[in-house]
Amino acid sequence: MLFGQKKRKPIKIPVKPVKEWKYTTCNYCSVGCSIEIGLDEDKKIVTSRGHAGADVNRGKLCIKGLLEHDLFNSPGRGTDPLIREKHYEAFEKTTWDKALDTASEKIKNIQEKYGRDSFAVVSTGQLLTEEFYTLGKLTRGCIGTNNYDGNTTLCMASAVSGYKRSFGSDGPPGCYADFEHTHCLMAFGSNLPEQHPIIYWRLKEALEKRKFPLIVIDPRVTMLAQFADIHLPITPGTDCVLINAMLYVIFDEGLQDQAYIDANTQGFEELKSVVQDYNPKSAQHLCGIDEDTIRNVARLYARAPAAMSIWTMGINQSTHGSDGVCNINNLNLVTGNIGKPGGTSLSITGQCNAMGTREWSSCSGLPGYRLLENENHREEIANFWGIDPEFFPKKRGLTQTDIFPAIETGEIKGLWLIATNPMTSMPNTARIRKAFENLELLIVQDVYEDVETNQYSHIYFPASVWAEKEGVHTNTERRVNLISNVIPAYANSKPDFWIFKEMSKRFDNGKAIDFPETPEETFEEMKKLSVGEGRTLDISGMSYEKIREARGIQWPYREGTEGLLGDARLYTDGKFQTPSKKANLIAVKFFNNNEQPCNEYPFWLNSGRVVEHFHTRTRTGKIGNCNKFSPTPYMEMNPDAAQELGIAHQTYVRLTSRRGDAVVLVQLTQRVPRNMVFIPFHFYDCVNRLTLGLLDPYSRQPAFKQCSVRVEPVAQHEAARINYESRAF
Ligand code: SF4
Repeated sequence: MLFGQKKRKPIKIPVKPVKEWKYTTCNYCSVGCSIEIGLDEDKKIVTSRGHAGADVNRGKLCIKGLLEHDLFNSPGRGTDPLIREKHYEAFEKTTWDKALDTASEKIKNIQEKYGRDSFAVVSTGQLLTEEFYTLGKLTRGCIGTNNYDGNTTLCMASAVSGYKRSFGSDGPPGCYADFEHTHCLMAFGSNLPEQHPIIYWRLKEALEKRKFPLIVIDPRVTMLAQFADIHLPITPGTDCVLINAMLYVIFDEGLQDQAYIDANTQGFEELKSVVQDYNPKSAQHLCGIDEDTIRNVARLYARAPAAMSIWTMGINQSTHGSDGVCNINNLNLVTGNIGKPGGTSLSITGQCNAMGTREWSSCSGLPGYRLLENENHREEIANFWGIDPEFFPKKRGLTQTDIFPAIETGEIKGLWLIATNPMTSMPNTARIRKAFENLELLIVQDVYEDVETNQYSHIYFPASVWAEKEGVHTNTERRVNLISNVIPAYANSKPDFWIFKEMSKRFDNGKAIDFPETPEETFEEMKKLSVGEGRTLDISGMSYEKIREARGIQWPYREGTEGLLGDARLYTDGKFQTPSKKANLIAVKFFNNNEQPCNEYPFWLNSGRVVEHFHTRTRTGKIGNCNKFSPTPYMEMNPDAAQELGIAHQTYVRLTSRRGDAVVLVQLTQRVPRNMVFIPFHFYDCVNRLTLGLLDPYSRQPAFKQCSVRVEPVAQHEAARINYESRAF
């Protein structure tokens, strides 16, 4: 008998007295896993499980999904609307009528005094699609500000912009099933096992059935890089150089799919000419990947019968984010890898419904991928809603990342934040704090009253969470899935849908525009707007009942479609959403405009995720094992660099950048090279005190992953105290 075995007790799995399972979809990341919530005979939630019949997750869930049902009664939930004259004063509880009346009056006063656009709205990728559509109606149609955006600008704006520039429209062309058909997969800046665990599981399952090369491009040895056949530890911010050098090899060796290029693309000659400057012999010195490896991966990719690229924040969160996406699309277009099984560009979206906000919120335009810049689109939506088309602006206003500088300059005086937490999520948070203090009105609408940003608000709206509401999400592969209303709203919180509808009644246009009573009626209204000649975003064949039955349907799914399957892929016929119907090959030039490590600040600062947490920990920071497994921020540092600076494992250090400083615990690891440190971005008062966040010129997305810092030892006792106090909010 082995040592200790005698005393070992078998693990007992408690029996959960489930009387009924209710269908819903996970409300964290964009994978879009189907979940069943188990209720006991008193309708109390006792457990949850992955839905075995759902194609996305096939019964699996990650730790966040498994514990998501603990959200409903988690600490810090907002119970009642709160109000105060000045931020930092004590809040007073109030009624919904008083809160909504006060908020709407203050918005109108600001707009009368300083102009309509002096009030801004920033939402999220976390709401349900019907809520996004209703918020769009309220913001574009009733409040009438053009400074309206989502926090998706921090996350997927570069993907959106790149898709529009290459293909003429947003919308990921591929799907998870492509893993089962591909012969080569390149992952750019995407650490699937921690960011999107169930997509990783789908990939792993495909690899177990049929081996194909997995190439990972990431400056850090991420978990995905550890499983890769080839890992390219690229110099931060130089993906354009690497892809141009691959294109150089492909053209030089005649490996392109010329028939596909001739039939379906435009811009080939310019692309070919620009990449002549990226001979791998010289490009290797910029991107840090040796010439032979560049040639090897270019040949592997171009010669594969079907090859696909996935990417996440390593591409998007960059000053070249939009160009990086266009260049990935270039790579796939010239090798004929768009719209075929296993051959695609597939951005892996961040938030559960970042796609829903892109499609229906009107943040960057008008519903259903319509554009403010297009007169016909403005008229179509104005007529549909029953308002004057002149009420709409003729081009898009400020993005989230431009709204904060506009607060600093006094151009914007009031702000409504919905399910977003810029005090943790935005770069250079000291600047964000000062901006908040400039505001005459800050409204925070969130599930949690103790969300960091609420320190600066004047009015707080407590929102209901996840399965306390009903509506749909769209996941990374364009699959629309249903969130069922499983339990009543917590305390006196209200669904965001209700809050937007009630707010609309307090504006003149709100009396002219019809706001349906229920999310399902709203979905039926959206379906009408999705129909149109050549529209890809067509949901007209869907209904709540069909979505539930299919456990998610991909768009396009047109009225009259037989069966429950939408189109798995876009652009299968080689026809794109540009005026010529051809895809644009966009030549991309590299400009080295990032803050670089130097003598004073010798380390690259990189940031990313851990599997236990979602975004700014507003929710996962409150949930049992998510928080227990990952309770505190840490910094990965290379042991050689640490030795040189006299820094020991698991000691606190001070990081300083040109913006600020942060104290953090060191974990020594070879995951990061000698000139880089890495910190998870989820934690308040940590990595974003340091980040610079230069903006991409097309998407306005910040470069979170490229700035420089120095690292210094600190007195341990004092550091531990600072670290504890700064996170004790
Ligand atoms: Fe939820 Fe994403 Fe985890 Fe699936 S992978 S359970 S969608 S957090």
